[in-house]
Amino acid sequence: MSLVPCRACGHSVDTSALACPQCGATDPAHKLSRQQRNAISLTIQLIIGVALLVGGGAYLWREFAPVIKAAIVKTGNS
Ligand SMILES: [Zn+2]
Repeated sequence: MSLVPCRACGHSVDTSALACPQCGATDPAHKLSRQQRNAISLTIQLIIGVALLVGGGAYLWREFAPVIKAAIVKTGNS
């Protein structure tokens, strides 16, 4: 157990403390609150999800666009 300054008021708090006894800030030993960390991880997951979706979509389009075009051309000629 070690003491670190509270991120909000600078009061010495235990690293395992859930709230600062001085100012009541949550997770005083951490630079970011639990909610902020959750929001950041959610944002990162969202960005990765969108990137995978866009990348996967572009890949599929590159793979299948010629096939689809060929099929359309074939149908048009026959
Ligand atoms: Zn504090």
